[in-house]
Amino acid sequence: MSQIIDARSDTVTRPTPAMLEAMMLAEVGDDVYGEDETVNELQRKAADLFGMEAALFCPSGTMTNQIGIRVHTRPGDEVICDELSHVYLYEVGGIAANSGASVRLLKGDRGRFTAEQVRSQVSSRSDVHAAWSRLVVVENTVNKGGGACWDFAELERIRGVCNEHELALHLDGARVFNAIVARNESPRDYGRLFDSISICLSKGLGTPAGSLLLGSGEFIAKARRFRKMMGGGMRQAGYLAAAGLFALEHNVARLHDDHRRAKTIERELQGLSYVSSVLPVETNIVIFTIDARSSTDEFLRSLQSHGIKAGSMGGSTIRFVMHLDIGDDQVGALVEKLRTLQVA
Ligand SMILES: *Cc1c(COP(=O)(O)O)cnc(C)c1O
Repeated sequence: MSQIIDARSDTVTRPTPAMLEAMMLAEVGDDVYGEDETVNELQRKAADLFGMEAALFCPSGTMTNQIGIRVHTRPGDEVICDELSHVYLYEVGGIAANSGASVRLLKGDRGRFTAEQVRSQVSSRSDVHAAWSRLVVVENTVNKGGGACWDFAELERIRGVCNEHELALHLDGARVFNAIVARNESPRDYGRLFDSISICLSKGLGTPAGSLLLGSGEFIAKARRFRKMMGGGMRQAGYLAAAGLFALEHNVARLHDDHRRAKTIERELQGLSYVSSVLPVETNIVIFTIDARSSTDEFLRSLQSHGIKAGSMGGSTIRFVMHLDIGDDQVGALVEKLRTLQVA
């Protein structure tokens, strides 16, 4: 492990020797022909885990979200999501470009809106002027909300509103395993509620690449065509799928460790004079703001000169994310540096 503590994101992890070994031993075939048995096994395993019919392995979480939205909507339809959501902020305007859909933004609490907000914003199907609301997207955990977890009861109420208004419900579950572990939930609870789910294997689960889209058999059959259209059909993808299988088996329960370490950093930050606020830590993400009089760039440079990489979230907001390559020793060193840092 390098001396640098890279806490910018949980995407920066390198595969462990054990994961690499599993990848080396993978049986592979051409997945565009559906002949890669390792990909097929990963898709089956993930679908089973969530109690859904089928799954599709894709290169990235952006692609699984964008394909999901594409299958659920038609041009001119409207997608309802939170103003902090990844599908809106960080997918290059893909909802408009890939699906021709418009977006209705809700203002939630750290990315979590209520069923009542959805109900009050659904367009009327009898109004000739209105874009038809067709899909609700929920993100759990909410990245920009500091890894906030949803209350499951609220998700159930949102499902109820979707049923009343014939809306599909998609989960951007890039970090849903963090929520499942933190809240002691079961993947099957999510499978029952959502029409489609996107999960990332390359975040806290530590694979080099890959995400899965889950849904009904019919939904995934359509999704497979859009994956090909978007250029996401991979050939001997079993090498990557093997990393995914390894991650589902070995790297889910350990997310607790990341959450505990994030809590340690939260407690430390709360006592520092140059920190003005810290979002409540629920999972592996720590978002905080530094005193407005300090320069964010200078703060990040100073951290970097001490071997610590943090992410900038705009303005004076900074992000640390815990992951597989940051252990207790690194957190100890990080906390020590935060304490001794001279912030102008
Ligand atoms: C990372 C992330 C994604 C997908 O990102 P990729 O880098 O395309 O895999 C989607 N949603 C959320 C909330 C994310 O954090």
